[in-house]
Amino acid sequence: MTSQNLHAFLKGNLNELREQGLYNDIDVVESSNGPIIKLDGKSLINLSSNNYLGLATDERLKEAAIQAIQEWGVGAGAVRTINGTLSVHTQLEESIAEFKGTEAAIAYQSGFNCNMAAISSVMDKHDAILSDELNHASIIDGCRLSKAKIIRVNHSDMGDLRQKAQAAKESGQYNKIMVITDGVFSMDGDIAKLPEIVDIAEEFDLITYVDDAHGSGVLGNGAGTVKHLGLQDKVDFQIGTLSKAIGVVGGYVAGKKELIDWLKVRSRPFLFSTAVTPADAVAATKAIELLMESKELNERLWENGDYLKRRLKDLGFDIGHSETPITPCVIGEEKKTQLFSKRLYEEGVYAKSIVFPTVPKGTGRVRNMPTAAHTKEMLDQAIAVYEKVGKEIGII
Ligand SMILES: *Cc1c(COP(=O)(O)O)cnc(C)c1O
Repeated sequence: MTSQNLHAFLKGNLNELREQGLYNDIDVVESSNGPIIKLDGKSLINLSSNNYLGLATDERLKEAAIQAIQEWGVGAGAVRTINGTLSVHTQLEESIAEFKGTEAAIAYQSGFNCNMAAISSVMDKHDAILSDELNHASIIDGCRLSKAKIIRVNHSDMGDLRQKAQAAKESGQYNKIMVITDGVFSMDGDIAKLPEIVDIAEEFDLITYVDDAHGSGVLGNGAGTVKHLGLQDKVDFQIGTLSKAIGVVGGYVAGKKELIDWLKVRSRPFLFSTAVTPADAVAATKAIELLMESKELNERLWENGDYLKRRLKDLGFDIGHSETPITPCVIGEEKKTQLFSKRLYEEGVYAKSIVFPTVPKGTGRVRNMPTAAHTKEMLDQAIAVYEKVGKEIGII
């Protein structure tokens, strides 16, 4: 017999979530995750992927991946520290370092486990971490795993950061103090105040850690938020993912060689979990090469983002204060937000609602992620649906 205790726990909690309308039924996409996707046999304009540059379905990457499978097989065969480091992995790491303007880089299986790996390799129970309250879940989990004291900082509040950094420093309780922030906050599309953060870090001798999952491929002509702001020499850890703008899968830390050397001997997902497949490594390397060669995709992403924002704003939607192509449409109440998203779906637009607990209660939104792969016609069609549904529900 299976556990009655577990059954009672699961049943009670699942029922509660369903009653509150917070249970997320997973949508299954029946096509590649391009600008048009198929669900339930129906074609929809896709405004929910993180495939910023359209690289997830790029022919050049597909070709490179197919060739890599022919040459290297489908799996790496062992963890990196035994003999699963193939030259495609070290080539990927060299490309990342060049792209980011750092001495070295280390690749992980995902952005999520990169944060689990990197934070806990350097920070321990004698240390403290100043963490923005809106940081990504993987940063929060990475901080917890390290056992360092976590000091929550009000979102992008530099007065609060300065005061808490000073208090932590003057307390004399901690060996090391780190400040961690997302480069771009994915729910609102705002950019971290990195120039002020690095100043505060210099003043109080903080380690700086920037997770640029949503900035890489997007800001700084693609190189990311840190380079966009000219701060490569002042940020210790530049984290990124290979699954968003890069279009494949994986995560990385870019930084000084001595940091990367340490992570290679101490970070547990690197030591105890097999690396990304050869096809992943080669496709991601190809994507980085394309971004270093040409700004074309990056420019198209921004054109599309600016266009969508301007048109939705003109229609009277509350698009928040995004500084990137991420375009939230803030609706407010959870049920209304879900209804809005459902009606968009019925009219042929896939834009997912994001509600509590992912964002604070009463700030439900539909988040739009335009990409370089969208045509003007697709965006115009989506905007016409927004207008129709917005009027119908009384949002505009
Ligand atoms: C998406 C995201 C991650 C996770 O990246 P994956 O490669 O999908 O695991 C980590 N950090 C931030 C800030 C993210 O937005």
